[in-house]
Amino acid sequence: NAPAAAPLAYQVALSDHARSAEQRAAILAGELGFGRHFTDHMVAIQWDKANGWHDARVHAYGPLALDPAASVLHYGQEIFEGIKAYRHADGSIWTFRPDANGARLQRSAARLTLPQLPVAEFTESLRQLIAVDHAWVPSAAESSLYFRPFMIATEAFLGMRAAQAAAYYVIASPAGAYFAKGVAPVSIWLSEDYARAAKGGTGAAKCGGNYAASLLPQMEAQALGCSQVLFLDPVEGKYLEELGGMNVFLVYRDGRIVTPALSGSILEGITRESILQLARDRGLQVEERKVSVDEWKDGVVSGEISEVFACGTAAVITPIGQLKGKDFAVGDIDAPAGEVTMAIRKELTDIQYGRVPDRHGWLVRL
Ligand code: PMP
Repeated sequence: NAPAAAPLAYQVALSDHARSAEQRAAILAGELGFGRHFTDHMVAIQWDKANGWHDARVHAYGPLALDPAASVLHYGQEIFEGIKAYRHADGSIWTFRPDANGARLQRSAARLTLPQLPVAEFTESLRQLIAVDHAWVPSAAESSLYFRPFMIATEAFLGMRAAQAAAYYVIASPAGAYFAKGVAPVSIWLSEDYARAAKGGTGAAKCGGNYAASLLPQMEAQALGCSQVLFLDPVEGKYLEELGGMNVFLVYRDGRIVTPALSGSILEGITRESILQLARDRGLQVEERKVSVDEWKDGVVSGEISEVFACGTAAVITPIGQLKGKDFAVGDIDAPAGEVTMAIRKELTDIQYGRVPDRHGWLVRL
C-alpha cells in the first residue's frame, strides 16, 4: 500500500501570443467544425521511470520537440482520449464522466506499456487548461470544447522494450454542433476486407495505431458515399464490433435495445455505457451480446429492428439510416431519425448541458 502520490504542482506560463478577445470571438462565431482550431495553451506533464510524474506545466500551445529516436516515432507507443467541456446557461463549465475517461486512459496505458496517470491528475489536467482557456468554451447550442489528452513514449532508445520516459499532453479544440442542420441519418459501409483489431490485439485500447489501421477502410467508405465503416469481429468475421470511431446500437420494436458485448477488441465507449444506463432507466430491455450482421440485415428487412444508431463523444448519437455492403444495402437513408434514438440523444445532451437534473452524478465542474 504505497501512499498516494502528492498532487502535481503546476507551473503556469501564459502565452505571449494568445489571441485577442476579438480574434477569439471571431473564431468562435465562425464555422467551427471539428478539430480545426486550438486554444492558446496546452498542458504538458513529464514521466520517467526514476522520477514518476513530474514537471507539470501549462504553457503556450505550440510544436513539440522530440528526439528523433523517441520510441513513439518508431513503435507507435501513443494513446489518447476524447472528452468535452460543456458551457451551461449560467456560464459555468462542466465535463462528463472524466473518471471514466481517466480510467480508460489507464487501461490503454497498461496495454501499450505506458505509465498510468492517476485518474485525479487526468481530471486536474482538464481543470488546469480550463483555468487559462475558459473563454474558448463556446456557448452556441450543442457546441463544446473538445479536449484531446494524449501520451507518447519519448525515450530516445531504439531497443524493443517499454519506454522509460513518456509525456502526457492536453490540447483543446472548440467544436461546433455536430449536426448543424439538424440530426440526419447516415449510411455505413460494412468493411469485409479490413479489420481494425485482432484477437489479443489493441482494439480495446485507444491507441493511435488502431486509427491508422482504420483510415484505408474509412476512405473506401467515403468513396462509396458512406460516412463511417462498420467493422466485424476479427475471428469469425460475422459479428458486429463497432464503427471506426463510434459504438453501435440496434433498437427493436418490442422494446429491446441491443449492442455488441465488449469482446476485447471493441473500445469501451463512455457514451455507450451511459446510453445503456439511460435505456435501463427508461424500462428498455438492454442486451449486451454478440450481434451478427445477418441479424441486423434480417431485422431491418422484417421490420423487427426499428432503429439503428452509432454513439460517441464527438457526435453523441448519430442515427444510421442504411447499411451497405459489397452486394447489399438495407435500410432507408431518407427515413427520419428514430424516436428512441432521438429521445435518448435529447436526454443525454440535456444532462451534459445542464438542462435536466444529473441524477447519475456524471457531471464534474471544471
Ligand atoms: N469506438 C471507437 C473506436 C472510438 O474511437 C470511440 C471514440 N472515443 C468510441 C467507440 C466511442 O467512445 P466514447 O463514447 O467514449 O467517445
